[in-house]
Amino acid sequence: MSTRKTKNLTKSDLRYLLIDSLKTYSDNVYYIDGNNPYRFSLNKKTTYILIRNVHESGKGRSNPDECRFQVSNSIGLVKALKSRVNVIVLGFFADENVFTAWDPLVFNNRFDSDFMDTSVKKSRSVYSRFSVQESANQNKIANYVDDNNQSIISFKPEYLGLYLENIDNIHNLDESELHKLIEFSDNENVEDFAGSISLGNEQLVVTHTRFKRDPNFRRKVYEAYNNKCAMCGIQLELIEAAHIVPHSHEVGTDDISNGLGLCSLHHTAYDKSLIYFDHNFTIKVNKNKMKYLEKMGLDGGFRKFEELAFEKLQLPQNHILKPNTENISIANQIRGIN
Ligand SMILES: [Zn+2]
Repeated sequence: MSTRKTKNLTKSDLRYLLIDSLKTYSDNVYYIDGNNPYRFSLNKKTTYILIRNVHESGKGRSNPDECRFQVSNSIGLVKALKSRVNVIVLGFFADENVFTAWDPLVFNNRFDSDFMDTSVKKSRSVYSRFSVQESANQNKIANYVDDNNQSIISFKPEYLGLYLENIDNIHNLDESELHKLIEFSDNENVEDFAGSISLGNEQLVVTHTRFKRDPNFRRKVYEAYNNKCAMCGIQLELIEAAHIVPHSHEVGTDDISNGLGLCSLHHTAYDKSLIYFDHNFTIKVNKNKMKYLEKMGLDGGFRKFEELAFEKLQLPQNHILKPNTENISIANQIRGIN
């Protein structure tokens, strides 16, 4: 029997993967809390995402193309299932860089009262096909219909937001309709967009939210920070006005105490959780995210990057212009840092 070596991502890796994936779809997204299932807000709608590494089925199964993962009745999952919030079950296959999603309507039927009793450990296995995941890597999306007529959709990470937005009916589409949906979303993913498309008997929605920058906020931040990056001191017209708590969150205001002057490199790095700062304004490189990027083969230039930043943020003298302490906590939580 052939054995496949599949890459395994840790819980911390999977959380960064989800955060990064959702952000390519909409600016209006943030991580709320939870450690698998993770709770996210996307376009103001809350969803729990349970995610597992997809691996081969193992001994006793005859089909080498078959892959699977198990879901057990952890306290976190059962709590999520009992809440009024949608719970999505996802697999991630790192070798092909694709998500695989089981129809939550079909899947939730398997979480019976037996499963919900956490005093005895129970688990459910779900299956898909490696070949379907390879096809999704090449064609952006692919559909597999199993023996129980359940639709299992595999897709590239940038379509996770699209999948979540259409969770109630996306599993009713066939493969050619899924391709049309992807094409529609891709064509509109340049600026702010909200629209819908009819496919088969279903109405699918696409919402790409792109926040516009307030010119007043920008001007105030530039002035307070003397056109300098608070993390590295660079001016050179590379300064940008960063939000500490992002716009997607209810306290993500345009107040100066929620702003920070950062160069374009550190602005992106901050928003991607590569670098952050604590209540003492000490700057820290996020080692967990670096480990994740190393696994994805995306950690080039790490040393150079690490050397660029000061030990502490360079802040305005006037204390009312400095970052608000509560915002720092929320900002780090949202960026998945703890
Ligand atoms: Zn900088």
